[in-house]
Amino acid sequence: MNDKDNMENKSQQSLDAVAQVVASYAGRADVTQDDILTLAQRLIPVFASTPAQSASQAPAAVAAVATEKPIVKPAIALEKAVTDDKVYCLCCGKGFTMLKRHLKAEHGLTEDEYRTMFGLSEDFPLVAPKYSERKAAYAKKVGLGKYSRDADADQGAVAR
Ligand SMILES: [Zn+2]
Repeated sequence: MNDKDNMENKSQQSLDAVAQVVASYAGRADVTQDDILTLAQRLIPVFASTPAQSASQAPAAVAAVATEKPIVKPAIALEKAVTDDKVYCLCCGKGFTMLKRHLKAEHGLTEDEYRTMFGLSEDFPLVAPKYSERKAAYAKKVGLGKYSRDADADQGAVAR
């Protein structure tokens, strides 16, 4: 069956891509063997779910993607990817207040896929800290602050 061939071809391509990514990741000084294993395990399903058309119609293009656009090597160093008022896209190095929409629009990635690709932890910020802080501070100000004052006022009202 053709379908079966395609699937096998595709999964072989996926494994090749994973191997490339893992190899470049393994070159980093801060990476342990466990990290590498974990990354490989997490990457395989990500690559396996990429559209089959590129694998069956243009194998050369797939190879080019794997070599010319290193998937795990960030466009900007992780420690520089987050500033107070901006987060930088590790795919293209552009800065944003929040990455979610950009990732989807420019790179067709979900936040989860993005985290997986660059080995980011769950709490790696994808929203500028200043922005989320401001939001948190604002929420506190209008929410918690108001709440305690209102609670006092209510108690006063009830007592009367
Ligand atoms: Zn980008």
